[in-house]
Amino acid sequence: MTYFFETYGCQMNVAESFSVERIFTERGWTKSPSAQTADFVIINTCTVRATAESRIAGRLGWYDSLKLVRSLHPDAKYHVFPEAAALARSNAGKPPPLTLAVMGCMAERLLQTLKKDFPAVDYVIGNFQKKNIADILQAVEQGKTWIPIDEEPVYSFAQTSYEKGSFSAFVPIMHGCNNFCTYCIVPYVRGREVSRPPEEILKEIDELSANNVREITVLGQNVNSYIWHDIDFPKLMKMIAEHLKKTNSPVGWVRFMSSHPKDISDRLIEVIRDERVMCRHIHLPVQHGSNAVLGAMNRRYTRESYLETIDKIKNLLPDASLSTDILVGFPGETEADVDDTLDLMEKVQFVTAFMYYYNPREGTKACTFENQIPMEIKKKRLAKIITLQHRVIKELMSRRLGQTVTVLAESLSRDNKEELLGKTEQDERVVFTAGKESIGSFIQVKLIELTGNTFRGIVV
Ligand code: SF4
Repeated sequence: MTYFFETYGCQMNVAESFSVERIFTERGWTKSPSAQTADFVIINTCTVRATAESRIAGRLGWYDSLKLVRSLHPDAKYHVFPEAAALARSNAGKPPPLTLAVMGCMAERLLQTLKKDFPAVDYVIGNFQKKNIADILQAVEQGKTWIPIDEEPVYSFAQTSYEKGSFSAFVPIMHGCNNFCTYCIVPYVRGREVSRPPEEILKEIDELSANNVREITVLGQNVNSYIWHDIDFPKLMKMIAEHLKKTNSPVGWVRFMSSHPKDISDRLIEVIRDERVMCRHIHLPVQHGSNAVLGAMNRRYTRESYLETIDKIKNLLPDASLSTDILVGFPGETEADVDDTLDLMEKVQFVTAFMYYYNPREGTKACTFENQIPMEIKKKRLAKIITLQHRVIKELMSRRLGQTVTVLAESLSRDNKEELLGKTEQDERVVFTAGKESIGSFIQVKLIELTGNTFRGIVV
């Protein structure tokens, strides 16, 4: 039998899709090249923005039609959609061969209503119900329907999130969030913070090492809140670095995300400085540069304390690059607040920034704030932020030209099969000429040219 995944949203979803995929493959299922030909489709959803949910709702409508086509003619799965539709029109009354499950944050938010609103959906798997997937598959294999039982919601970490053949992998270490930023739905759909036992984390890392993984990203909604008895996040990162050395692991780079600026500690920055396996790239989502807006967002740090943290990072890790998230158009934001944000961006010089405008999210506190900003103004403010960031990126990247850097060769380049695409420790993309046997290796590359946000380099 075959499966197909559609994954939306954050890295946590990507990691969770890989871990669920593993349940399929261990049961002998194979990956289908498309949804049209799969026996089981899982949509792993995001609910952070209303637009993400609308997109998924559109896909569920599409699956409604696909299921209808498939139910009318079982052979339809072997054809592309228009051909399948034509076949279906001429053959009626066959049983439905496609099972559709929706998991992730939208599933959690709409746990009680999703199936009613989208009849194509067979199973709704909330964030605390993934342990049921093997039972669902067993029922499907036997041509039965799995009936859920009411249980206390408890989050369980998958044993591994490794995607077979990949040189990079995610390692989830904690789940959930206790912060309740006023614009964010995550604490409501992912629940409170839970940390994963360190021995499980190290065991997963051993499996990744055995599969010749070269780069791991330690993952959580707020990794700095990791706590397992007396082991906090800096201690865990130190432990990971020492374990990699002790086991002679092929993992050469360790990253982490996401990190809340109020929780990042000096000790963590020191671990990154002292352990060469830790990448000199820190993603620290500032969200805004104005204290008034940060307060309304309930971020619990100020622009001053954020800039102080950045100074510490720059002092202890002079070669580190910084990236961030910026949210403009928050309720009550003034032009002066936007200027504060532009000023902060100038001061920090982020190498990348994920920039977006505020969209009220049903179920969050900020959604009820009265002083919402009109869309036209939000778009104008976002455009200002993007213009500044483009200039900063260009300047920062131009300064890198002529430097020789370590690149992890990841894949063949899409445009030229004689070339490889890789990334630097600072998460910049580099294209260079090398044989495909170099994929998965760390290579020294001199950066010689910049096209858009991608470097061209030569192997030295
Ligand atoms: S820290 Fe804030 S933005 Fe991040 S997941 Fe928690 S509530 Fe959402």
